[in-house]
Amino acid sequence: MEVNGDQHNDANADIENITNIMPNQDNCEDFGDQYKKKTQRKVSKVWDEFTILEIGGNKKVKCKHCKTLFKFSESGTTTQYKRHQAVLNVS
Ligand SMILES: [Zn+2]
Repeated sequence: MEVNGDQHNDANADIENITNIMPNQDNCEDFGDQYKKKTQRKVSKVWDEFTILEIGGNKKVKCKHCKTLFKFSESGTTTQYKRHQAVLNVS
């Protein structure tokens, strides 16, 4: 019976650890990343400077400053916009 009791305690300790982690999901970086990707897909800083338009069924990205139009990349790549931003910052 004593041995059984020890095992039971161990199991309880494990459960405690798990339940401590579960509600505190900020500690789990993987989960946090997935959550962010799902809920806020385009929270890149570039979207402060660019807007997405639809012209004739084609998505375009417009620079808010100089109204330059870029092809919208469905893959979510923002490199070209970032490069444009860099140019803006310099001038
Ligand atoms: Zn621009």
